Amino acid sequence: MSDYKKIKEELFYENKNGYLRSDDETVKQAYDFCEGYKEFLNLAKTEREATAAAIVLAERKGFKPFTREKEYKPGDKVYFNNRGKSVAFVVFGEKKAECGINITAAHIDSPRLDLKPNPLYEDVEFALFKTHYYGGIRKYQWPTVPLALHGVFAKKDGSVVTVSIGENPGEPQFVVNDLLPHLASEQSKRTLSDGIRGEELNVMIGSRPFKDDEGSELVKLNILKLLNEKYGITEEDFLSAELEMVPAAKATDIGFDRSLVGAYGQDDRVCAYSELMAVLDVKAPEKTAVAILADKEEIGSDGNTGLNSKFLSYVVHDICLNDGSDETVALRHSSCLSADVNAGMDPTFQDVMEKRNASFLNHGVVVTKYTGSRGKYGTSDASAEYVAKIRALLDKAGIIWQTGELGRVDVGGGGTVAMYIANLGVDVVDLGVPVLSMHAPFEVTAKLDVYMCNRAMYEFMK
Ligand code: MN
Ligand code: MN
Repeated sequence: MSDYKKIKEELFYENKNGYLRSDDETVKQAYDFCEGYKEFLNLAKTEREATAAAIVLAERKGFKPFTREKEYKPGDKVYFNNRGKSVAFVVFGEKKAECGINITAAHIDSPRLDLKPNPLYEDVEFALFKTHYYGGIRKYQWPTVPLALHGVFAKKDGSVVTVSIGENPGEPQFVVNDLLPHLASEQSKRTLSDGIRGEELNVMIGSRPFKDDEGSELVKLNILKLLNEKYGITEEDFLSAELEMVPAAKATDIGFDRSLVGAYGQDDRVCAYSELMAVLDVKAPEKTAVAILADKEEIGSDGNTGLNSKFLSYVVHDICLNDGSDETVALRHSSCLSADVNAGMDPTFQDVMEKRNASFLNHGVVVTKYTGSRGKYGTSDASAEYVAKIRALLDKAGIIWQTGELGRVDVGGGGTVAMYIANLGVDVVDLGVPVLSMHAPFEVTAKLDVYMCNRAMYEFMK
């Protein structure tokens, strides 16, 4: 090798495509891992479903609901189910909690169309649902996409009826309509963000009237009759329901080479699944491992199932009670990977990215030092020392990783749960998977990155 090449190799930082750095066995493991991932995406389209699915998988691996009555030993596995919408899995470590806990946190809520509290109406002989979108959607993307209805009716007698319709073969689906181009000349003058308005995201749910010679709203009546037969509910029960329209499409491979996964809700169930599979494999770690699947990230993490709440502190408090540790000392010595997606470089929309600091699909899991916007507002900027620790951990384990900012300076920005955990005194950095078409009804990730995310989580918690 020439001097020039040798010195350049020593001094330059280069981040090659992960496939050029992986053997066939690793690639096979990545593809295999994503088979389970796609199954998880299909059965966990809401935070409630993701929580339930995660608990089923965890119980199979010996996780049990936490109770203060029991004394836990290293290697014991418990979970804290937060109202069925958020969950924390814990594997007790050899060391006391005040020596520090290794925390991973992903979110399991995704952008979608929530039904309003009084959603059902009839107009020009159609029955429809009014919706209020949840999270940062681009509204124009949601019409003419087949939708499924997920959620619950909570009734006054305390019972809860679970709803999932539009996922299984043969079940009906739903749709938001859009104008035909022939009559869209006025609508076409609107800006893209205004192309479809919030109050135009009305979901078509039926058109067949109840057969009677008199009366009005016969289509609505017929729908209520069907809902009453199936779920035992009346119109008033919508007042205490959480019902969500989500894309009905199934997760699938994308590309002739099957290197990509296309599906709804990969932000952030891609990190959630990677994290879950990692914590389920953790045996008896040196430090206690906590894996959180959080709700409400897409609307700012507020509320009792989001991470801008005391949920994590209470979990740490309970862990500390078990071995007589001090909670604040434990938090001060703890480390966290805030596991969320980043925007990957899109070949068609390169100009919103700054190439030297963008994340690329197939270049591995992304470490994001800070997110935020307008000059790093609204973020936790991880310390150099902590990023160095994570670099060392990833490199030692041979994990393919990259760095990435969320787009060019001042083009936009975003946030994660990192700052809420950092505010407790924990060292935190964002780590996750690059995504294309983030927040769209159908998002794209790369299999190699998904697998590297899982391996990173495991190395961090093991
Ligand atoms: Mn996210
Ligand atoms: Mn998001």
